[in-house]
Amino acid sequence: MMEQYLKIKEEYKDEILFFRLGDFYEMFFEDAIVASKELDIALTKRAGGNSGDYPMCGVPYHVADNYISKLINKGYKVAICDQMEDPATAKGLVKREVTKIFTPGTFTDYNYLKRDENNYLLSIVLSNKSLYMSYADYSTGELYTTFKSFFNIDDLVNFLIDECYRINPSEILINKFENKYIKEFLNASKFYINYIDENLEDISLTDEDETYINSNIFKDLNVLKAENKVDNFASIYNLLKYLIRTQKNDLNHLNNIIFYEDKNFLILDEHSKRNLELIKGINTNSKSESLLEILDRTKTSMGSRELKKWIEEPLIDKVKIEKRLDIIESLNEDLILLNDISTMLKEIYDIERLSVKISNKTISPKEMISLLNSLKAIKEIKNLLQNSQIDTIVNLSLSLDPLEYIVKEIESIIVDDPPAVIDDNRFIKKGYSEDLDILFEASDEGKSWILNLEEKEKNRTGIKNLRVKYNKILGYFIEVTKSNISQVPDEYIRKQTLVGSERYFSIELKEMESKILGSKDEALKLQMQIFNNLKSFLLENLYFIQKTAKEISKVDVFVSLSTVARENQYIRPTLNDSGIISIKNGRHPIVESKFMEELFVPNDTYMDMDKNLIHVITGPNMAGKSTYMRQVALIIIMAHMGSFVPCESANISIVDRIFTRIGASDNLARGESTFMVEMKEVSNIIKNATKNSFLILDEVGRGTSTYDGLAIAWAIIEYIATDVKAKTLFATHYHELVNLKNKYNCISNLTIAVEKKEDTIIFLRKIIEGFSNNSYGIEVAKLAGVNDYIVSRANELLQYIQNNEDMNINKNILKKDSVKIEQKSIFDVKKDNFINEISSININEISPIEAMNLLNQLIINSKDLK
Ligand code: ADP
Repeated sequence: MMEQYLKIKEEYKDEILFFRLGDFYEMFFEDAIVASKELDIALTKRAGGNSGDYPMCGVPYHVADNYISKLINKGYKVAICDQMEDPATAKGLVKREVTKIFTPGTFTDYNYLKRDENNYLLSIVLSNKSLYMSYADYSTGELYTTFKSFFNIDDLVNFLIDECYRINPSEILINKFENKYIKEFLNASKFYINYIDENLEDISLTDEDETYINSNIFKDLNVLKAENKVDNFASIYNLLKYLIRTQKNDLNHLNNIIFYEDKNFLILDEHSKRNLELIKGINTNSKSESLLEILDRTKTSMGSRELKKWIEEPLIDKVKIEKRLDIIESLNEDLILLNDISTMLKEIYDIERLSVKISNKTISPKEMISLLNSLKAIKEIKNLLQNSQIDTIVNLSLSLDPLEYIVKEIESIIVDDPPAVIDDNRFIKKGYSEDLDILFEASDEGKSWILNLEEKEKNRTGIKNLRVKYNKILGYFIEVTKSNISQVPDEYIRKQTLVGSERYFSIELKEMESKILGSKDEALKLQMQIFNNLKSFLLENLYFIQKTAKEISKVDVFVSLSTVARENQYIRPTLNDSGIISIKNGRHPIVESKFMEELFVPNDTYMDMDKNLIHVITGPNMAGKSTYMRQVALIIIMAHMGSFVPCESANISIVDRIFTRIGASDNLARGESTFMVEMKEVSNIIKNATKNSFLILDEVGRGTSTYDGLAIAWAIIEYIATDVKAKTLFATHYHELVNLKNKYNCISNLTIAVEKKEDTIIFLRKIIEGFSNNSYGIEVAKLAGVNDYIVSRANELLQYIQNNEDMNINKNILKKDSVKIEQKSIFDVKKDNFINEISSININEISPIEAMNLLNQLIINSKDLK
């Protein structure tokens, strides 16, 4: 047996091998050491004869799922090796095979999957300057692919990194490729990586592979080839081959390849998504405090996942965006309808994720009822939409197919409340199959005959405590206590003697028993046959079920966006192609949601391709510059998603990309300093931005010395003004930059109003034209609680620096006497106090004792001056 084990293990080196032995899955050697530690189970030994003992551990087969989940969560793969023959009847060693491999990117356990996130397996193939990527969610059957060529490798790496973060796969397949940056990125990232050894040219599907794949996939591949969209399918092939190898099951539910290109969307790089907190809050690193959280009022898991896609892939096709806006606007006009649909949506189960179970034929009767109830709810939603007076809403109903023929089929076959796990009970409705009814009735009648037998025999024999019982070994039998044995009739056949009683059969009883068990067996067999037919029927219609799931998830997103728009007073944006971004009283959707009593101060924005191309924004720290800039970006993104936006009116130009350079973010994984990262980001922005892009640059140049920083910031703005011509919000503390307005027509200055009161400032949060030549850094430091000494010393130095034209400020400050220090140091204050104390002593007026005490005090005080 160990030879068999080692032979199988040889093929599954990456996985922890669960080897079925009787009622247990056993692990051996290194697997046992790792698993016992990770699962917190006992590590034992198995005697290995001459070769010595070896480590072993095991888990009961019927609870293996829990342990597998734990291992997957901890980033392991698990291969299940089952017994392929019945050990009771097998001759010699039982045949064993690996029947399935569980991996993070293919695992479909509901406890493992996050309800509002897809679980993607990403396949990457790199070749020279081409990148092929495909990714699939095995739990839902979605499959996407793209192909892109690059002129230089830096762009390829940037695209790859952005895509990896966007897709956020649980597992990556990638061919071995020599590139330092990609290697560093993959090593530093937390992604689970599988390296594929094969050469690009060698990757193809075998005839056997093809038997597992849905034929629609081949149709789609042909289309992609014919349209010259993808010239090599290695990334798709790798993905499919991996799924076949791990699942060892037909991939029925992967029946459609969606080809995507980033040029179809408003492109958002990873920095921007993080900085703008689209999916995760920066402080929370979770959905909390993100745009997704604000917009997500979806009622189904499918809707929640769909909304995330909308946020990450805003549209750039005006017609498509307007279509979404039309629907939201129409839903907003009918509050009752909106509420009714919301209520019905709550009834809908995650039918998208049932697709893998339909594909594998592992769907349970209970899940079929969930599907049935969901389809019924979808039917009601369709009716609600259809009855609307508004054409847009009626049109929305057309895309929904509630698959009534499936409803009818499930409803006529499965009982209303079936068990979650199939056992010996009936779950097929009465009246569906006459044969089944007869068989179940026979078994039921037999049972009641036996129940009556006890009463009948009691009366006949006069034995009051006679019992008819059942156990697995004897089947039905009659039990009589020892004291009543004399009354047992002759025809009883003694079968077993216990301490206090005897057990008997009767011919009549045994005949009835075989009738009951026989018909029950038949009934269960027929029941499974009917159930399997129903599974096949669902499988045949899987594509339509998936389509309906997709459409209802969109309805859910529309309802969610409408609800949020109503409750948060968002308005419908107008879209234009003329490069104008005009927002009246705009608000930051995330920041405003955190304000309870205090009011968020709304602000206007006006940008165009002419005089208002670039805004240089100055003003104190904490005034609200970052908030303002992000709010403009968020409103632009929301408008492109087809969502309403937080303001009083908005006219938004279609934008191709949004770039943000905000704050300091060390990229320690790449071993780069903050300033290096900052400049790389800037370089990327300058290289890729077009006149249709929108840029946010927050304090660019801050990471280096004042003069370099100022010079770089200056040059960047000039370049954007003359070359890139992208709409830009540029916040800075370099007040010298406000003069650029005089040189370039397209630059204007904005500032955030503050009111200075004595030595403190009040933030008014209102953006106004003009500039601030004061960052109020020292006032803000004071507000933050920096001590008085530092604050007044800083004020003193500031005054000197501002009055001094000499560029060698630092040197002069350090030279003694070059700065007139008006404020005394703490040491000086203490020294003066000490001298004052001594000179105020009047020797003639104090007694010797008082003199001694005073002297003592002065000695103590003098220690402070050392
Ligand atoms: P800056 O970038 O100028 O340093 P921030 O944009 O980070 O300032 O804003 C600081 C804080 O001020 C924010 O966290 C927020 O609480 C508050 N704030 C910003 N803008 C507004 C506004 N328009 N209305 C109310 N509070 C605001």
